[in-house]
Amino acid sequence: IPSDLTLPDFVLQNAELYSEKVAFVDAATGKGYTYAEVARDIRRFAKALRSIGLRKGCVVVVVLPNVIEYAIIALGIMSAGGVFSGANPASHASEIKKQVESAEAKLIITDASTYKKVNDLGLSVIVVGEEERIEGTMKWDELLEAADRASSGSNNETVQQSDLCALPFSSGTTGLSKGVMLTHRNIVANLCSSLFSVGPEMIGQVTILGLIPFYHIYGLTGICCATIRNKGKVVVMPKYELRAFMDALITHEVTFAPIVPPIILGLVKNPIVDEFDLTKLKLRSIMTAAAPLAPEILNEFEKKFPGIVVQEASIAYGMTEHSCITISHGDPSKGHGIAKRNSVGFILPNLEVKFVDPETGRSLPKNTPGEICVRSQCVMKGYYKNEHETALTIDKDGWLHTGDVGYIDDDGDVFVVDRIKELIKYKGFQVAPAELEGVLLTHPSVEDAAVVGLPDKEAGEIPSAWVVISPGAKENEEDIIKHVAANVAHYKKVRRLQFVDAIPKSPSGKIMRRLIKEKMAEI
Ligand code: ATP
Ligand code: MG
Repeated sequence: IPSDLTLPDFVLQNAELYSEKVAFVDAATGKGYTYAEVARDIRRFAKALRSIGLRKGCVVVVVLPNVIEYAIIALGIMSAGGVFSGANPASHASEIKKQVESAEAKLIITDASTYKKVNDLGLSVIVVGEEERIEGTMKWDELLEAADRASSGSNNETVQQSDLCALPFSSGTTGLSKGVMLTHRNIVANLCSSLFSVGPEMIGQVTILGLIPFYHIYGLTGICCATIRNKGKVVVMPKYELRAFMDALITHEVTFAPIVPPIILGLVKNPIVDEFDLTKLKLRSIMTAAAPLAPEILNEFEKKFPGIVVQEASIAYGMTEHSCITISHGDPSKGHGIAKRNSVGFILPNLEVKFVDPETGRSLPKNTPGEICVRSQCVMKGYYKNEHETALTIDKDGWLHTGDVGYIDDDGDVFVVDRIKELIKYKGFQVAPAELEGVLLTHPSVEDAAVVGLPDKEAGEIPSAWVVISPGAKENEEDIIKHVAANVAHYKKVRRLQFVDAIPKSPSGKIMRRLIKEKMAEI
């Protein structure tokens, strides 16, 4: 990897060469930024931040939806020596407050609609957008203009690759969300490895959909940074709605769409898709990450979009603490692709991976599930102000323990079974909820499903499901339970089932199993 470049310098290395090409475009309004403008505004914003006193290492919390200015803001903060920490604008004010406090942030960047969630935190606030200036705040575009007039600023501390650049918070799926310290090197190294490994979808004239939240490090680096580094264009969408999504794909001739499993589920199961002329799509590939995706669903997806979409459907496996770990492309059994359909692909270059027995800590042989551990230049520096958790996660030899169970097969394809914490222990057997969810989804009357383990005196835990029934289908509990039993080993049977209106999911598409478990246990 380039040994001295900061993340913004790495991303912008060739930006001058593509100056007039569009880098970011708003899916709804068509407003955009060219490469020249992106490079210019990152520099201007960094200068503005320094002139208002931002020091090296200061954390800036950004509470914004996906907007065309997002990457400019994040990279501007990093370029000034600050640390970018993205927060979900849909979060409750108290959750944002918690993040701001635990990150010890000095500054908040938000927009007019979210301003009221942060205005009483006693910090300086920069507001992005075209509205009038809100009293007591700074306006982003005015700051940029002021930077043009200011001298180069008093802060000349140089930013190094080993400095912190981002403090994302993990999704909090298994417990409390933790601040993850990432350096410029962590992310540059990961981009180098993943750009080396992506298929043709990321090279050259890619038009990528920017729908995955940019406050999640995957959205910011995997979509914005990777695309700008590679001369592509990002079509920015602040929120998901199926019709707007299909419109955006067609209008902006999107060629590559990284999406989360629930969207793929919608594309497969929702009849609204049939209102669109799919021959107008320029989409060549999709990618999913962040949560398990049943191979059956990907197969159905391929059938529905024949020959148009899935030249390559790829899956990436990663986590906030490391970014991308493995990547897959297509399905070799279908004549294209280089990893099996139900795998998360191969290990990125420059990474060491092993699978260990969580009890003994010993490395396990191929084809044997164990905790996935990874060691590389991408491993986070640690959890912010949490040495205890850091020591539990990164061992003395530098191995990051992912908390996920997986294995590697004879071809070098990696399979993620599930999270250690979410495996159901039924009479001494381990049952992976993700596998049962995949089988449930193959039932014609099942629109969506989630599985958790409920405490049981005799069995320890029993596999229990929440099911959303397809429109027009009948709720037939017995039939669905039978369908699962016919497709899995006896001990994996779903033994309790409840019908619900919707499965609670996080913005990155993860089933909120903790919440479901609590709700199911109440009854
Ligand atoms: P927390 O650590 O706070 O409980 P989280 O682990 O959900 O939350 P993230 O860092 O956003 O926070 O998610 C990483 C996790 O997502 C991985 O450890 C893994 O369990 C899951 N994951 C990511 N990609 C995949 C994938 N392709 N298939 C299955 N699971 C995945
Ligand atoms: Mg995690």
